[in-house]
Parts: sequence; C-alpha cells; structure tokens
Amino acid sequence: MGLEQSAEEVDGAFLREGLKGLSFENAFGGATSFLRRRYSRDLKGVDLAVTGVPFDQAVTHRTGTRFGPRAIREASSLQPCDWPFGWGFSPLEEFAIVDYGDLAFDYARIAAFPAALSAHVGTILDAGAGTLTLGGDHYITLPILRAHAERFGPVGVIQFDAHSDLWPDDDMARIDHGTMMYKAVRAGYVDPARSVQIGIRTDCEDYLGIRAITAPEVHERGPRAIAAEVRAIAGDGPSYLSFDIDALDPAFAPGTGTPVWGGLASWQAAAILRDLAGVRLTGGDVVEVSPPYDTTGATAIAAAHVATEIMCLWCWTRR
Ligand code: MN
Ligand code: MN
Repeated sequence: MGLEQSAEEVDGAFLREGLKGLSFENAFGGATSFLRRRYSRDLKGVDLAVTGVPFDQAVTHRTGTRFGPRAIREASSLQPCDWPFGWGFSPLEEFAIVDYGDLAFDYARIAAFPAALSAHVGTILDAGAGTLTLGGDHYITLPILRAHAERFGPVGVIQFDAHSDLWPDDDMARIDHGTMMYKAVRAGYVDPARSVQIGIRTDCEDYLGIRAITAPEVHERGPRAIAAEVRAIAGDGPSYLSFDIDALDPAFAPGTGTPVWGGLASWQAAAILRDLAGVRLTGGDVVEVSPPYDTTGATAIAAAHVATEIMCLWCWTRR
C-alpha cells in the first residue's frame, strides 16, 4: 500500500470491512478507536477486544484518569501502521481485534461499579476473546482480575508500578486504587507465587509472597535479566499483565496521579515487555494515565505503546 492510498482511507473505526488489516489514515483525522480498529460490540470471531474504563473515583490524590481511554486511543493513531517494531509479525493482520468501546456506568453509584466492570469483562471472556483494557485508575484491575480468575483460576500477575497497591484493607466495600492488589490476593484472584511487580519505589511492609523488583534493581541489572526472571516466575500458567503508567519515571510519564522519581525509562519498559514474549496472557491493562496533567501528551503516547506491546504479547502465544 502506498501513500496515495493512505490519503484516501479514513474512519476505519466504523468503515473497515472485516476486523483484520492495517490502517493508513491521516493521524490527524477520523474517529480514533484504538489503532483504528473497528468499533464493535459484536464479539463473534473476535480474538482480542480493547475496552476503555473511564473511572477515576478511587484515587488517593490527583484525578483525571477518566479521560485516559480517550487520550490513549488518540495517541495510538500516531503509531506506525505497519508491523510493531521488534516483533517480526503483524498482529493487526493476523488477529481479529476490535475496539469494544467503553464501559458505561453511573458515576454516582460507585458501589455498583465493581460488579458492572466484572460483568463487562466477563462478557468478552465468555465470547472466547482476550481483553485489553485502557484505564482509568488502578482500582479497575481488581474487578477485571475477578472476571479473569473466575474463568481461568488464580492468575499470575505481572504488575509494572511505582507502588505495590498492597496496602492492607480488609473492607471489600472500600474502592481504593492503593489496596487493589491486596484485595486481589486476599480474594484468591491472584497466585502470588506466579506474580511479580516491576518498578517499585515506595515502601510496602508485606508483599504477600509476590516478588517485588524495585526500580533501582531494574537500573542495576538491566532489562534482559529482569525479563528472564519475570518469565521464570510467570511460568506456563495463565498470566495477566497490568501496567500502571507511573512505573515509568515522571520524565517519561508526567501525566499521572501519583508520580514518583527514579522510575523506569520508556526504553527499559519497552525492552522488558518485548522480552516477555512467550508468557501466556489472558489479558492486560494500561492504567493511571491522567490527561489533565499530561501537558505534552507524552504519557498517553507511552500508554498507547504499552497497550500495543500487550496486544503483541497476547497474540504471540496464539500464533
Ligand atoms: Mn502506581
Ligand atoms: Mn498502581
């Protein structure tokens, strides 16, 4: 396909015929679904469904991640439309990937939100598709993990984050992004022995058996060694990848609620993610992108790249 054709293609988000294929649209125009995938609620024949969860009522400090899914979709339109770099295959041509749109919920009925999200994700999984979720704050991963665990059993979690999100909180009714993993482990959604956190640089008294790889450790040992350890921990069982964008240093991802210095450079995250090829993902998410604090758009761009890498990882083991 040449450039001539690129100027003529537009709005693949609703004009695309079929669910596979590349996109050659002007980055500045058209409807911005994730990677110009077709917007569809029809899950027949779908391999992987991308969905947005614009929820930010669980944050400790700064809000704004409700605008995250929209910003990540828009940033994804800037990505090269050919094969993702470094992978050697074309997920968009080989797999039926749709943008399933956003979860609809009543912003004023927060107590009803977790079940609504679990059901939303469960609908996708029951259709035989994988899920790739754009957040939203990190609380959303708890109801998502519930849906995955109900179908696959306790999953190994690969969590990129500056924070463990393991602060003790035995009140399941509390909706808090800082205690999400604690509850996921306590509820049995997560297999701690097959789980690992990468980029940690805040204190946590008890990791509940999860291996925590701090950001300084990533800097000292390098991405290749870290990825090898993560692959060994994840093993062959079902894994879920959750990427809190604050795993990246604020220099690379300033647009987030609780930035912490000393984090991963984007190249380190990219190298680790690509080196996880072979881990069997049931799904993944990118969370905590807060566009109001993302004055350059760099955070949304990083998140769109992370989401693309998760898509590649999910597809890799199903080729
Ligand atoms: Mn975090
Ligand atoms: Mn987090």
